[in-house]
Amino acid sequence: MKVPLLDLKQQLSYLRHDMLEAVTRVIDSMICIQGPEVAGFEQDLAAYCGVDYGVGVSSGTDALLVSMMALGIGPGDQVLTTPYSFFATMGVVLRLGATPVFADIDPVTFNIDPRVMEEVLAGDHERKIKAILPVHLYGQCADMSAIMKLAGQYNLPVVEDAAQAIGAEYPLDDGVKVTWSKAGTMGLAGCFSFFPSKNLGGIGDGGMVVTQNAVFADKIRILLNHGASPKYYHGEVGGNFRLDPIQAAVLAVKLKFLEQWHQARRENADRYQALFVESGLVRDKLLVLPHAVYRADNEAGPSRNGEQKGAGANYHIYNQYVLRVKNRDALVAWLRSQDIGCEIYYPLALHQQKCLGPNLSVVSFPEAERAAAETIALPIFPELSADMQAYVVEKIAEFYRQ
Ligand SMILES: *Cc1c(COP(=O)(O)O)cnc(C)c1O
Repeated sequence: MKVPLLDLKQQLSYLRHDMLEAVTRVIDSMICIQGPEVAGFEQDLAAYCGVDYGVGVSSGTDALLVSMMALGIGPGDQVLTTPYSFFATMGVVLRLGATPVFADIDPVTFNIDPRVMEEVLAGDHERKIKAILPVHLYGQCADMSAIMKLAGQYNLPVVEDAAQAIGAEYPLDDGVKVTWSKAGTMGLAGCFSFFPSKNLGGIGDGGMVVTQNAVFADKIRILLNHGASPKYYHGEVGGNFRLDPIQAAVLAVKLKFLEQWHQARRENADRYQALFVESGLVRDKLLVLPHAVYRADNEAGPSRNGEQKGAGANYHIYNQYVLRVKNRDALVAWLRSQDIGCEIYYPLALHQQKCLGPNLSVVSFPEAERAAAETIALPIFPELSADMQAYVVEKIAEFYRQ
């Protein structure tokens, strides 16, 4: 049996007609830049997230870049972020001439650890840190209650890299009450990516910045059109970071299926959980399964009392299903030899990247390095069949027992 890491073709059977119709509509309109398709999708996604403003941009990377530009991040500034993410999180900071400062991750969630952030912030005597950039890795939110508390204490803006976590919910505790809040809506702004492998993926690149702040939304709109306001009058230097109307039209079609896809991914995660436990591999400590820390039926999970129906259902949207395993690299080679798709997200921690030069790489972030050495992502896409999952688990068991 062949099991791909991701199979986008299966969606086509039910999406093809509506997607073609959407693309045709854009072509027939000959409104090739901005226009009603972009504006409509911006409204749809803002409503889905429960915020006032959504601004479409050219990619998740550009969503992060333009948000950092809107905050005025530049040379001499530092941005506090995680050492364990996709490169873009750190790349945008470096491109602006600023310096990423890392706080190591929580080994359970793989997300930035607020206890370490607290130490880093306390040590920033010159107040060089100008923003906090947490990442909701793999589809589960970082510990935003603690992060927002620190941000308030140090008066710092928070931009959420929610590229992997669109629709993921988090029980945000502001000290008075707990509100289930969607990824990207808790900080000043949230950044999404519509890269095809994300839970909401386009047929090319795309991204969005969401915010509750009208002034910030306006700034983003101006920056994504070369800083022009009005047209041809440039009060500042921006760029071309516009969302393509064809992507917007297709994404509006796909957004209608997003909740059902999240749910299918969660069901797949539950099935893996049962299969791996049954295999004995968990008991024998050959692997550690992903842990959904905000799941309400966890003993330590938060209660959903007083919340609207369904709130907290998306405690994890499993953009990736990532486990820690013994003998990782040999397992990857074995699975590939068995036609089972898998990937390493990510083989290096950010501070280990060569482009940083020797300065940062002398620092060590042991949990990020351990995650980079021990983790593997398995197929989790919504249309993955139960037979395929059983096969994946069987082949992993075979690897350890042979
Ligand atoms: C995908 C991703 C990005 C970048 O998004 P693009 O649309 O590919 O530019 C940024 N951060 C994280 C965590 C991502 O997973």
